[in-house]
Amino acid sequence: MNPPLLTIRDLRKSFGKTEVLKSVDLDVGRGEVVAVIGPSGSGKTTLLRCINFLEAYDGGSIRIDDSEVGYNDARKRRGERALARMRAETGMVFQSFNLFPHLTAAGNIMLGLTKVRRKSRSEARDIAKVWLERVGLGHKADALPSELSGGQQQRVGIARAVAMEPKILLLDEITSALDPELVGEVLEVVRGLAAEGMTMLMVTHEIAFARDASSRLVFMADGAVAAEGPPADLIASAEANPRLNSFLARFR
Ligand code: ADP
Repeated sequence: MNPPLLTIRDLRKSFGKTEVLKSVDLDVGRGEVVAVIGPSGSGKTTLLRCINFLEAYDGGSIRIDDSEVGYNDARKRRGERALARMRAETGMVFQSFNLFPHLTAAGNIMLGLTKVRRKSRSEARDIAKVWLERVGLGHKADALPSELSGGQQQRVGIARAVAMEPKILLLDEITSALDPELVGEVLEVVRGLAAEGMTMLMVTHEIAFARDASSRLVFMADGAVAAEGPPADLIASAEANPRLNSFLARFR
């Protein structure tokens, strides 16, 4: 079997005296879609932020394609440009969209392509157009974020991340800030990417979606992976796992 794309071992991270990640072990294989579920405060977002270099970790290791993401010192040594390039390997989509408000939909996608990937503006514009079409927003290339619905903004966020051709896409509660009627269009885009073999690690409260779209569910509790497995197996095994059972009970 191929080695995993993402390998996390004994990952530890504290904020002051609060141990948020106690010892996380997790592998994600190429083309795998892994959904992370778990109670609020269990460390899910912090885990994604460590993988995307937004947060330095205190111990353990995160390897992407056998290259160590690195601690604080390594990050400083690398410099900002190298960091931006490394970060582009792990495209991240945020709960709150995080689009640049003064840039159009196309402009948001072009920024990383020109600055980090060193594409020409015309090449970047072409790539942006392709991805906007892919998420159903070909006609909104020149719209500002304020002129788009939440669901449309989030689709631009996804297009911006995948346009950089990341090795893995990290999705952090990407539907949580949306009105319920806008959730479907965003999940549809994620489903399409999954079908095309995009490797994804997503944190989600959409249990039904996690079950349907992921090949593996990871249940985090108290800063560690408490259970994992194929969605149907994990859900079926919940009775034997009190923490998982009480978490899932909320969605029944
Ligand atoms: P989850 O995504 O599972 O809800 P988080 O990773 O967001 O969990 O947070 C885990 C814990 O870490 C929480 O107790 C939260 O308050 C704490 N935490 C997260 N970020 C910070 C930070 N920058 N400074 C201090 N504490 C933080």
